[in-house]
Order: sequence, then C-alpha cells, then structure tokens
Amino acid sequence: MVQSVEMVEVSARDGLQNEPEMLATEVKLEMIRRAVACGLRRMEVASFVNPRKVPQMADAAEVMAGLPRDDGVTYIALALNRRGFERAAEAGAREVNFVLAASEAFAGRNSGASTAALAEALEEVVQLASPAGIRVSATVSVAFGCPFEGETPPARVTELVRRAAGAGAFEIALADTIGVADPGRVRALFADARAAAPDVQLRAHFHNTRNTALANALAAVEAGVHVIDGSLAGIGGCPFAPGAAGNVPTEDLVYMFERMGLDTGVDLDGAIDAARFIGGALGKSTPGMVSRAGGFPAAAI
Ligand code: MG
Repeated sequence: MVQSVEMVEVSARDGLQNEPEMLATEVKLEMIRRAVACGLRRMEVASFVNPRKVPQMADAAEVMAGLPRDDGVTYIALALNRRGFERAAEAGAREVNFVLAASEAFAGRNSGASTAALAEALEEVVQLASPAGIRVSATVSVAFGCPFEGETPPARVTELVRRAAGAGAFEIALADTIGVADPGRVRALFADARAAAPDVQLRAHFHNTRNTALANALAAVEAGVHVIDGSLAGIGGCPFAPGAAGNVPTEDLVYMFERMGLDTGVDLDGAIDAARFIGGALGKSTPGMVSRAGGFPAAAI
C-alpha cells in the first residue's frame, strides 16, 4: 500500500461544470487560491469545451490567465478534442487532461466522436504537446458503467488504457463518471489497468452518486493507486446522471487518509474553510460531511 496520496482537486472544473449556479471568474479564482492555500498542489481548473454546451466553462481562458504564478502548483486544463487542446495550450496550460470514453454512446454524447476517433485524437494531441513542453494525461470516462450502455466491459477499458499508454499519456485516470463503482470492481479494474500499462501512473476519479466513493477511493489506494481526485465540498454532478450527488469531497478524503496515516500534504482545517467558501459562493448546502462535522475533536476534559 502507498504511504502518501497525491490529491488532484477538481472542484473548479468537474465540480462547477454541472452546477446550475454560474460563478464569476473572480470567485472561481478565489476558490482556486483557497485550494492552493490549504496545500492542494495539483488541480483541474478549466475545460476547453464548447461554451454553448458547458456555459460554466466559457471563461476558461480568463481563469487560466488569472491563476497564481510560480507557486509550484500544477494547473490542469481538460480537452475533448484537438481544438480544445489548442485552446488550452494558447491559454498557457502546462498540463492537459484528455478524455476518452469507454462506451460509444457516451463518446458520442460527451465528445461528438467515436471511441476510436478519440484515441486517435489523443495520439495527435500528445505529438503536439510534447515539443511544447505540455504533459498530457488521459481519463477513461464511464470506466465502471455507462448511463446509456449499462455495464462497461473491463476489456474495453484496458484496451483504452493500452492505447493511451502507447500514445504517450504520462498518467491514466479511470473515472466512475456516474458513480456506479464498488470497491471490488475498483480493485479489479485498477489491477487490469496496471497490467495493461505497467509504466504509467494511474489515477482514480470517483463520484459519490450512490455513496460508495469513499470506499472506492480506499480500494484504489489499497490497489496501489496514489493519485486520487477530489472536489472540495463534494460539488459536481453529471449531466447524464440526474439527481446525482457530486464528486467525492476532498476534505472527506483528506480526513480519512490522514487519520489512517497517509500523507496528503493538505491541511484539513484549510480544506474545510475552502469547502465552506464554495458552499457560500454557490448559495447551497453541499454534500461533504467533514465540512459540517469538523475534524477529529480536541479532548474536552
Ligand atoms: Mg467527473
């Protein structure tokens, strides 16, 4: 089992893209500054996608332009195609996450392309990114289940993992986009992914739609995955999973990992403050538990 966990903060991207409330660029930047202040060192901050489809990300270039400079934090921009990658590169992204879908129906709905075309686009993007000094990670979405096709065959996921590794992605995330995974499948699928791409860093992305995300994150860590996505306050959802709770809350993950002796580099109280700020900015109660309860209580007697 790993000794430390690298948290990737996705609230400003996956967290906000499905929120009905549209936050001003300056509020997003304040979210990001607070995430940095509590020790988060890697975060998705924008996606360069069609602003008509995802109006919450229409200010992606402005967010990139307003990021803190030279703070040692890695800011990630998400892209679904070559055009999105080019816009991210123009906006100064040093790391781009490219999304492959594990089902044809989801690839068509989310990216307007076939799974094969997406894998080819990833190869093209890595070839453009390398000389520009931009590193590229790949996410296999709907890896544990698809809202349109149902069960995702593990072999389809491992085939995409193999292709992404062959294309030159430095890291590959398996994403439970609609929150249907369970710890047993998480263990099995990450073991398959490890076998398919032994030299590539793996990363896990969970949604808490059915309250299994924390258990799934633990299963991933126990399977040797040391990069875990979280979203402060647990914001986020999925447009194809109506009524879904959000991403797994960062502060809940930090509480669990730190209590069990895994170093996250994140200050829990700072993460709770950041989560509460986000709830305030969105004007709603958010799904995270630890931001309500607080951390481990000090002795009272
Ligand atoms: Mg997601």
